[in-house]
Amino acid sequence: MSILNREFLNKLRHWHSTVAQTLALPANCVLCGGTAKRGLCAGCHHDLPRLPASLCPRCALPTPDGGLCGGCLKAPPAFDASFAALEYTGVVGQLIPAAKFGGRWSLLPMLAETLLHRLPVAPSVDLILPLPLHANRLKERGFNQAVEIAKPLAKSLHVPIGHDMLIRNRDTEHQARLTQAARHKNLRGAFVATAAIAGKRVAVVDDVMTSGASLDAAARALKKAGAVHVEAWVVARTL
Ligand SMILES: [Zn+2]
Ligand SMILES: [Zn+2]
Repeated sequence: MSILNREFLNKLRHWHSTVAQTLALPANCVLCGGTAKRGLCAGCHHDLPRLPASLCPRCALPTPDGGLCGGCLKAPPAFDASFAALEYTGVVGQLIPAAKFGGRWSLLPMLAETLLHRLPVAPSVDLILPLPLHANRLKERGFNQAVEIAKPLAKSLHVPIGHDMLIRNRDTEHQARLTQAARHKNLRGAFVATAAIAGKRVAVVDDVMTSGASLDAAARALKKAGAVHVEAWVVARTL
């Protein structure tokens, strides 16, 4: 088979599964099998593990009074503020991988909506930037979950998405087994931002913040290119 034919077949397969997914949208709750509109029934949606109201404004870890956490007082991240909706635990730990790797893309707009509720009504950012995947990962997965989360946010908030302004020039997947310090080291120089970002206030969107190392590296690259304010917007946060 020629490369062209293979590419076409892959595209066709991708399109076919996208259509199948779309048609299957108002199907059953992925968690309990009950009637669901966008992947989850009302009961399971209600029971999602939401983060408490008082979070560290810088990194979105829970703090008793909503003040800065110890980590941010000692060594603040390169981003200026964070917003997160859910705790990455229990069912959220199943839903996000299902959306990313299990072909359940229809869950991503629903997850984005939980984040929308945690954002200021009029966020003071000029651009929304989905955290980019390396080209190798994008090819492998076929889509970037951060883009699918950013799209409904951009639409609801009337903030444009900045395409190709933040680029991932190093493949740094498989960070899970690294220590926190090793993660930061592994990500040094992984991102680069274009000059178009100079003077802008931006929000970087991703599905999960674990150590925050990726978002920190992205924020560093954005600031280096002249961004004046960088926020991290994530659906879920590990505690
Ligand atoms: Zn359910
Ligand atoms: Zn903090």
